[in-house]
Amino acid sequence: MFITDFLLFLLCAPKTELMELDRNEYINREITVTFTPKKCIHAEKCAKGLSRVFRTSVLPWINLDGAETNKIISQIKKCPSGALDFCHNPVKIPA
Ligand code: SF4
Repeated sequence: MFITDFLLFLLCAPKTELMELDRNEYINREITVTFTPKKCIHAEKCAKGLSRVFRTSVLPWINLDGAETNKIISQIKKCPSGALDFCHNPVKIPA
């Protein structure tokens, strides 16, 4: 699984962000979500909008099983700082 995650990271990450080591990744069958803490302005828009995915008191704080992928994508697009981002996985990960 680790190798799969790493390959997805290489395929999904924009080249400029490959140099950025301080970001976290979360993967479900369809998308890879990245979170870059240093960009976050802590507006909590994500937690207020989709609390079952973006959790403020549980680790890991992003739970991609908490909602359908289209809802997660919609919420990520509302992140005001760009701390949250996503890409579609090049291959659908088997369940
Ligand atoms: S919406 Fe974006 S900027 Fe706001 S808390 Fe979530 S990750 Fe941080």
